[in-house]
Amino acid sequence: MKPLTQRSSKVVNKDMTFMEKIYLPAIFGGMWITLKHFFKKKNTVSYPEVKRPVAPIYRGQHVLKRDDEGRERCTACGLCAVSCPAEAITMVAAERKKGEENLYREEKYAKTYEINMLRCIFCGLCEEACPKEAIFLTDKIVDADFGRGDFIYGKDKLVETLEDRIDVSKRQIWDYQQ
Ligand code: SF4
Ligand code: SF4
Repeated sequence: MKPLTQRSSKVVNKDMTFMEKIYLPAIFGGMWITLKHFFKKKNTVSYPEVKRPVAPIYRGQHVLKRDDEGRERCTACGLCAVSCPAEAITMVAAERKKGEENLYREEKYAKTYEINMLRCIFCGLCEEACPKEAIFLTDKIVDADFGRGDFIYGKDKLVETLEDRIDVSKRQIWDYQQ
C-alpha cells in the first residue's frame, strides 16, 4: 500500500529490555533535562510587573484624547465606528449644553463611547478615520479579565485623565507613500 506521508515509520512490537522495564534510565534522563533547564536563562517574564519591549508601531489599547485645554476632542461623528471592520465601536451622541464648553471641544460630543476589546483586531483604522485626532492606539496591552462584559471599555477607561495625559506623538505611523 502507498504510504500516506514520507515520514511514516514501521511499528515494531519488540519486547522491552531489562533497562527499559525498570524505567530508571528514562526517569534520570528526564530529570537531567529538567535540571539543565533549571539553570538556563528563562524565556518567560513576570508579566505584568515585567513587560517586554514592543515595536514602535505596536497598536494596543485605545485612548480618547483631550485637547490642550483639557476638553474631549471626540465629536461623536461616528466615522471610527463606520470604518471599524470588527464593528467593535458604539457610541451615543449628545448636544453640548451651555456651560459645558470647558468639557467638550465641539457642539456635539460622545455621551457614551464603547469599544469591545474582544472584537477589536487592533487594525488602527479608527485612528486613521478620525477627523478630530481624538482616538489613538497606544502601546498599552489590554488587561486580562474574567468576564466578557469587562472587555467592553467605556469612556471611564478610554478618555485620558487630566492628570495623566498620554503622549501618542512618538508612536510611528506607517507611511503609505514609501
Ligand atoms: S483598531 Fe480596528 S478593530 Fe479595533 S476598534 Fe479600531 S477600527 Fe475597530
Ligand atoms: S473618535 Fe473621532 S471618528 Fe470617532 S466619533 Fe469621535 S471624532 Fe468621530
